Amino acid sequence: MLSRYERRELSRPPRQHERTLTKMLPPRAYSEPLPVVAPGPAQVAVDRRPVLLLAVAPADVDRFNNSRFTRLSAQNTADAVRSIERSRPRVVAIDIDLPQFDSGAIHTAAHQTGHTRVLVLTDSPERVPAALKAGCHGVLLKPFAPNLVAARLGRLVRETLLTPMARRAAAVLLQHGTNRTWPDTACPTCGNMGAVSFEFSSYRRMWYACLQCDGVWLGPRQE
Ligand SMILES: [Zn+2]
Repeated sequence: MLSRYERRELSRPPRQHERTLTKMLPPRAYSEPLPVVAPGPAQVAVDRRPVLLLAVAPADVDRFNNSRFTRLSAQNTADAVRSIERSRPRVVAIDIDLPQFDSGAIHTAAHQTGHTRVLVLTDSPERVPAALKAGCHGVLLKPFAPNLVAARLGRLVRETLLTPMARRAAAVLLQHGTNRTWPDTACPTCGNMGAVSFEFSSYRRMWYACLQCDGVWLGPRQE
């Protein structure tokens, strides 16, 4: 026999923060819906799309051809930092394999806006622990599919719109952007607990990093 309170809890529609939570978890990079672009009125004078700052090789700019964003491109670190201060982008994508971009300086500038998310691109998983320590919110291992870029960007932007309640829930789950800390997962090299997962490699495996010894490895997928 259910109490009155239990009956009411079972019959009420989900509250806003519960819906946000369900949408946010678990992190399924491969099943995320692509962002929906609603056609706006034709006479819009101001471009209100969120800004995406690209600190990537010129040949890679078109990989971020997502109509939800106004794209800006940076040539070097000074250029990127200036653009971040001036345009306060929603997301900065940095290719940390390129010597002209100082990942630490760009991370610092992005964190100072208070709302900019950082997506790091690299073809060496070994570089990821340093980026995680710098505070990146997402990682894409090269080469990546264009639809994965769109899904990852959409997810980082949705996160900036979370309610304070959903933000606290994410903190409890040790979720930082699309990276997540697993308190019971140990590093196979140094045995330190609290591995951080940063990318899926398939439906069954994902990449982990150890922030103690900077090791990276492929382990079973957890959700
Ligand atoms: Zn380790």
